Amino acid sequence: MSNIENTPYNNGGKLKLAIQKSGRLHDDSIKLLKECGIDISNGVNKLKADASNYPLEVFFLRDDDIPQYVEDGVADIGFVGENVVFEKNKKVDEAEKLGFGKCRLSIAIGRNDEYTDATYLQGKKIATSYPVILQSFLDKNNIKAEIHEISGSVEIAPGIGLAEAICDLVSSGSTLFMNGLKEVEVILKSEAILIKNKNLDAIQQQLLDKLIFRIQSVKKAKNNKYVLLNAPNENLDKIIQLLPGMKSPTVLPLATEGWSSVHSVIKESDFWDIIEQLKTLGAQGILVVPIEKMIL
Ligand code: ATP
Ligand code: ZN
Repeated sequence: MSNIENTPYNNGGKLKLAIQKSGRLHDDSIKLLKECGIDISNGVNKLKADASNYPLEVFFLRDDDIPQYVEDGVADIGFVGENVVFEKNKKVDEAEKLGFGKCRLSIAIGRNDEYTDATYLQGKKIATSYPVILQSFLDKNNIKAEIHEISGSVEIAPGIGLAEAICDLVSSGSTLFMNGLKEVEVILKSEAILIKNKNLDAIQQQLLDKLIFRIQSVKKAKNNKYVLLNAPNENLDKIIQLLPGMKSPTVLPLATEGWSSVHSVIKESDFWDIIEQLKTLGAQGILVVPIEKMIL
């Protein structure tokens, strides 16, 4: 089936995607869909919205509920943090990491308390919204502690005498700092992932494969940059070695004698390292531009 968008499907022909209604993952979820060429007609205050140019129906839900909806098949797929997926422990499959919503689930204690290792937590009261993940960390370390489950503002628990430690999501650490706490143990690194129902039919799977292909192209593009520069011919070989490109760099002669223009693709993570070396080799007029999509 080559043009699946134009063919009728059994379940109304749409893939049902659950995303967070509002909160930290909402905007990045919509943005990723947009980068995949999928527009959602203003659905923010509704329960669901249709994509105008992909057979996709988007449900807006609390992130905590997304794994259950996907397990039950009310939604076929969902965008949700790995932290929530592990905590809820539902029967769903992970299909793709999404590259946003990065954070860590960490143990924090009072800034002036002295932490040695996990045995510090023995017999302590720990406040968290993640009792399942925390319990498994404690079990792995043979520690018995009292887990105090609270649903929000976990970071104030030590200050009001509710707990001696907390286990909570951290990104910059500024919330901990403001509450007189310090991070002492990372128990999970998390980012948003695409989860899927275990019983997708062939057509739903085909629609999902197509979506995942687009997501991968967007992710690859974000991790790479397009570089253009002018290189003195005497160092051309060395410069080309630094810039492998997708196959090999494009080299064009410049009007100025003894110089060439070199175009290539480099990894974002290698960027500063390579730029320094290129400058040392006499490269000039270096332009680094973002790539929108990348298909290998
Ligand atoms: P909801 O109303 O949907 O239940 P929430 O209050 O549980 O929302 P948010 O604070 O919006 O959730 O966070 C949603 C997800 O964003 C988290 O589960 C986590 O995967 C991710 N995230 C990324 N950085 C952070 C952070 N610094 N603190 C909390 N969550 C973060
Ligand atoms: Zn939530």
